[in-house]
Amino acid sequence: MMIGIDLGTTNSLVGVFRDGDATLIPNALGHVLTPSAVGVDEQGNMLVGLPARERIATHPDHTAIAFKRWMGTDKTLMLGKKRFRPEELSALVLGALKRDAEAFLGEPVTEAVISVPAYFNEAQRKATKTAAELAGLKVERLLNEPTAAGLAYGLAERQEMSTFLVFDLGGGTFDVSVLEYFEGVVEVRASAGDTRLGGEDFVQVLIRLFLERCKALSAADRERIERDQSLWRIAEQAKRDLGEHEQVVMRLRFGDATHEHTITRADFEAACADLLQRLRHPIERALKDAQLDPGALTEIVLVGGASRMPVVRQMVTRLFGRLPLRHINPDETVARGAAIQAALKARDAALDEVVLTDVMPFSLGIIISQETGGRRIPDRFSPIIERNTPVPVSRVGSYCTVRDQQAAIFLDIRQGESPVGSDNLKLGELEMPVAALPAGEANVDVRFTYDVNGLLDIEVTDTRTGHKVSTVIKQSENVMTEAQIAEALAKLADLKVHPREKQENIYLVNRAKRLYEDNLGEVRQQILDWLSRFEGILESQDERRIRQARTDFAAALDSIDRGFIL
Ligand code: ADP
Ligand code: MG
Repeated sequence: MMIGIDLGTTNSLVGVFRDGDATLIPNALGHVLTPSAVGVDEQGNMLVGLPARERIATHPDHTAIAFKRWMGTDKTLMLGKKRFRPEELSALVLGALKRDAEAFLGEPVTEAVISVPAYFNEAQRKATKTAAELAGLKVERLLNEPTAAGLAYGLAERQEMSTFLVFDLGGGTFDVSVLEYFEGVVEVRASAGDTRLGGEDFVQVLIRLFLERCKALSAADRERIERDQSLWRIAEQAKRDLGEHEQVVMRLRFGDATHEHTITRADFEAACADLLQRLRHPIERALKDAQLDPGALTEIVLVGGASRMPVVRQMVTRLFGRLPLRHINPDETVARGAAIQAALKARDAALDEVVLTDVMPFSLGIIISQETGGRRIPDRFSPIIERNTPVPVSRVGSYCTVRDQQAAIFLDIRQGESPVGSDNLKLGELEMPVAALPAGEANVDVRFTYDVNGLLDIEVTDTRTGHKVSTVIKQSENVMTEAQIAEALAKLADLKVHPREKQENIYLVNRAKRLYEDNLGEVRQQILDWLSRFEGILESQDERRIRQARTDFAAALDSIDRGFIL
């Protein structure tokens, strides 16, 4: 069975297409959302998902979150004494999702469709494929997230030509895409976004709003609270509650005092004005790139957990003068689409064939030196495939030598939109030996082929001799080599991972420890008693007793805080 995965910056999900519908698969804790968090505990065991997320405040040096941001770069993160590449951290999340799917389906799972942001470049897409390989999954297709959202909403089933705008506000990123559907073909017409804007910014607004009211605290204390994020959980909960209630009470214990303030929805929304303003720019750019008026859109689709906020929905409604589609849970939409795409790949009979095309979100080309008015200007960008060309695509550019007796043509392959070649992202290099001739007489054709998975093949042909130098761009530094992948596989195989059936126990213990830190006095003592009792029963290894104790322990902890926040 092929699975569909939304590997998100904040949360990841896995789904499968069964009985004519996309079904999301619960993790070991029974949740369909698995936080994209990885940690290592005191015994050196790896933690993935909520058990890791619980420890971010208490063990920031042993917990990694938001590593999707670093995919395709060579940045590494330290978890305790161990160093990880973003591909390895993503592989641990993918591995957990794979095991959840196997437990749910009762069969081994080795193939997946994984969604990626439409703007992901070569290196980021390759890194995603490598992460899957490290987790023992073959990627049947990388699917653009907005396209997945379109599939979940059944855009392909519409008869007439339609154009959709997908508004995806996640935890820390904002993506806007314009999709067009016509005769069974879905095409991404334009994409824009802000990689530093998401639900998290709204939490920070609440933290600042609250601290401004804590007049009793010194400026230094306020700064400290803001810096060490001790208010984060309270603010995150308040943000969610403000979606349901007109006002919330935020309460912080600091030192001996408790600080308590009521925040109304109106206060919150007024304080969000700047963020709402920032949401407008990418929308305007995407429409401009797609050369569309807002009125020409058939539907507006809301995706991403943070689009649940009423203030965000209202802004979108006002901007477009109509209600957006949002009947599928916004944080589940992309995963549902990925599951549908997985079924399409596996040709599930229940689905009509849909052809998907995406556009390339960036231009690809090489650096050349250009002759203008008798002057030769170095470092110019010569695009071979232009931005927003539907993929798959294969294009040829013709180039010649610029010096007499030049023995080789050197290709410096770049991605980007700047006319200055070296301002664009370097993807690789290729050298083509040519016959030593007068300048301009040795010619080559450079063919770029970009496939649906967003991977680039390059072929250079000497037009005189027919000699070819083909394919593989010398891998950019940020892409893992075969040797590095083999090494990472061995490293991951050596990591200790708690068995799936222990996950819930581990989560409860970590949650209790976090609650202990958050509380004082009697409540603290109470938590410690429960924790000790639970750990005692865990040692008994009596499964029946453990099961009962787990239910009781969870209920007890629920009486102190309102349960998990993903
Ligand atoms: P990503 O695509 O970044 O992995 P998600 O689509 O899961 O993330 O969105 C996560 C964001 O959604 C978080 O900032 C979270 O606070 C926010 N979120 C989830 N539920 C709600 C809610 N009910 N109200 C407001 N924000 C929410
Ligand atoms: Mg997302």
